[in-house]
Amino acid sequence: MEHYEITIVGAGLAGITAARRLKKQGRSNLLLTDKSKSVGGRLATRRVADGRADHGAQFFTVRTGELEEEVQDWLDQGWIKQWFGEKYPRYTAVQGMNGLAKQLASDLPTSLHTKVVKLLEVEGGYRMYSEDGKEWQSDKVLLTMPAPQIIELLKNSEVEVDEEELKQLRNIYFEPTYVGIFQFREETELPDGGHVDVGLPEGMERMVDHRKKGISGDTIVSVYMEADWSRKHYGEDYVMSLIKEKAAGYLNWKQLESEQLKRWRYAQAKKVMRQPYVDLSGDGRLVVAGDAFLRLNDEAGRTRFESAYLSGKDAAAYLSW
Ligand SMILES: Cc1cc2nc3c(=O)[nH]c(=O)nc-3n(C[C@H](O)[C@H](O)[C@H](O)COP(=O)(O)OP(=O)(O)OC[C@H]3O[C@@H](n4cnc5c(N)ncnc54)[C@H](O)[C@@H]3O)c2cc1C
Repeated sequence: MEHYEITIVGAGLAGITAARRLKKQGRSNLLLTDKSKSVGGRLATRRVADGRADHGAQFFTVRTGELEEEVQDWLDQGWIKQWFGEKYPRYTAVQGMNGLAKQLASDLPTSLHTKVVKLLEVEGGYRMYSEDGKEWQSDKVLLTMPAPQIIELLKNSEVEVDEEELKQLRNIYFEPTYVGIFQFREETELPDGGHVDVGLPEGMERMVDHRKKGISGDTIVSVYMEADWSRKHYGEDYVMSLIKEKAAGYLNWKQLESEQLKRWRYAQAKKVMRQPYVDLSGDGRLVVAGDAFLRLNDEAGRTRFESAYLSGKDAAAYLSW
């Protein structure tokens, strides 16, 4: 049976950052798993015709020197660019946000299409089981998926966890988000830069024209609905027509070429934890991280790119003790 020192479950930004840090510290016996066909998680980009559209995070801001340092490096590499904003510049990835995740994970030992469905505590660590029948053993495990998915995994597992910490995890509450993705035959009337988030109809959070954003050859627009609106209409089959009705004042539906709907069940955490990771085993062998785990001094107080980055980084430091 394969044996790893550390398995990281979830190759979103938190998992990728943790893996990068551990690798940098010389930990080579690592495994980064994700259930999807690509790394990135909520750094998600879809190819549409000759274009692409981000339909998870659109941009990120920087409040810490630690991320600032990375940002300088990513700018030098040509992976990201400043998109708009002055006080807190909004950075975005030149090949889509998923492209950045792929660049960051390019030399990490990654196992995709690997959904971890069970952990079994054994002497010296954990035996891990994936949905497609793989089994391996790991001394330590870092879980980075949204808290409800962590709780689901623990329900199917045989591991000893700190009940108080588990109770706190159960308090983390994620909100859904609907995103409509539209391809148009001609350019839109949206402003230069392609980003609109003020004066929109009730329930709509933002619109982004990815051609004007500078990351797409074709005109592909993402329309983000607010969490309250998305929760209210969650699972209804008329969601797409409602989104189109709301966006009618901005987009010319006569020029529509194709449409897709993305439903995020766990988009952004409304309730967060004020600690950057949680040690579920109490001895550093089963640790939880992700964007909903904020440092005590986090200024923004919200789940976002930077909170995922910092949580992954802090969890890696803790795991490498
Ligand atoms: C619609 C939307 C808009 C957003 N907009 C912004 C924005 O503009 N700016 C910003 O800063 N942030 C934004 N965010 C938030 C940002 O995307 C997240 O904070 C960040 O990407 C989360 O990273 P993460 O690693 O914590 O989690 P995730 O990216 O969710 O990673 C978790 C990973 O775990 C995997 N996984 C789950 N279960 C299993 C399992 N059992 N086995 C294996 N793998 C599993 C998933 O496939 C996923 O890849 C947005 C998010 C959404 C959804």
